[in-house]
Amino acid sequence: MSAPAAPPVPQPEVLAAFEAAKGFMPVDEGLALYAAAVGAAELGLPLVEVGTYCGRSTILLADAARTAGVMAVTVDHHRGSEEQQPGWEYHDPTVVDPEVGRMDTLPTFRRTLHAAGLEDQVVAMVGRSPQVAALWQGSVGLVFIDGGHTDEHATADYEGWAPHLAPEGLLVIHDVFADPADGGQAPYRIYRRALASGAFTEVAVHRSLHVLRRTGPGI
Ligand code: SAH
Ligand code: MG
Repeated sequence: MSAPAAPPVPQPEVLAAFEAAKGFMPVDEGLALYAAAVGAAELGLPLVEVGTYCGRSTILLADAARTAGVMAVTVDHHRGSEEQQPGWEYHDPTVVDPEVGRMDTLPTFRRTLHAAGLEDQVVAMVGRSPQVAALWQGSVGLVFIDGGHTDEHATADYEGWAPHLAPEGLLVIHDVFADPADGGQAPYRIYRRALASGAFTEVAVHRSLHVLRRTGPGI
């Protein structure tokens, strides 16, 4: 019996750009995301991310998209999630627009992609996830949900984007914590809901990153 194929890994310069980027995706979970994205890109359809922030995980989706000649699409209003606002745990004062007095991660995101040499592989959609999803028409090969962590936002991300997944497309959800002591429960609840729908089969788990394949109708 031959050994299982080693998972794909990004080129060293892409990995270095990812590690240098501001953001919230740990390296090990990022590599699991990358492996899922390389597989999904073979469907020949766009890879969609909800929750760009400064483009850290976007680099991985874009590099996977490049291997298959598809595009990565990333959606964010760039005003930050609840827990990233001033006074909250994940606030970064360097991503505030002083003129507007609100967060603006779009300039940093653009620098991140430029540094990684991946600008041509990404379409950035600046807006609220449910509103972008409502405008979206075609099928997608992968949906990566890493946006707002309230039930309202996570539910809207799932309801807005999961129906656009092609058969065999991948739904990847970050920050899935079964134990409330480890983190908020909204991503866990949409993960449970996806499995309960009967439309998905879990194909990989790496810590809080869960990968489900669309294997049935419904959602
Ligand atoms: N994937 C990023 C982290 C994303 S953080 C990384 O690898 O570092 C979550 C992001 O989701 C924030 O930038 C926030 O602005 C965005 N977000 C939260 N709710 C949103 C919504 N309803 N629509 C669009 N973007 C949203
Ligand atoms: Mg996350």
